[in-house]
Amino acid sequence: MKTKLLYHTNSFTYECSAKVVAVEGDEVALDATVFYPGGGGQMADRGMISWDNQRCQANVIAMNKRKDVVWHTLDCIPPVPGTEVVGSIDWDFRYQMMRTHTALHILCGTIWKEFGVQVTGGQMYPDRARMDFAMENLNKERIAYIEQKVNEAIEADYPIRVYTLPREKAFEIPDLVRTKINLLPRILQRFVLWKS
Ligand SMILES: [Zn+2]
Repeated sequence: MKTKLLYHTNSFTYECSAKVVAVEGDEVALDATVFYPGGGGQMADRGMISWDNQRCQANVIAMNKRKDVVWHTLDCIPPVPGTEVVGSIDWDFRYQMMRTHTALHILCGTIWKEFGVQVTGGQMYPDRARMDFAMENLNKERIAYIEQKVNEAIEADYPIRVYTLPREKAFEIPDLVRTKINLLPRILQRFVLWKS
């Protein structure tokens, strides 16, 4: 059993048809999903699943990814396996999340490029975020300098592309891994990379 992760190939897809492949309690597994289950600091998507020509609707209130399957927790009795459904995410929430996430990559990319300093942790919300850096001498001038460099990068309007590469390959390119290596989960088999 495997869920096709549509959010990995096109992050602007906000809706998809899918089939229920399994049900466990109030959780539903689909053969394909646009719902990001959370991870890498980014919060899980929320949204809705409908079936029976939209006569039935349920809110997706939590997400879980176990092995290769994405589970959607519903706020009502789930449809039975085999049911064709339409899943749609809360796009405003996701889009804010995507912008914040991209902004963080610009920030840690800038700090890496300018000071060779790695990220040690962080927390992401749709409209705000925190990032930790193992950096000394973070004085006012330095903050202003970082802000200026980040704004220059945003101004440059680089395209954002998605690459997938095996874990071992990713570790061979130190510039690509700006997170402290020990923070990456061991089970992580593949990286999806947003590279500008
Ligand atoms: Zn990221």
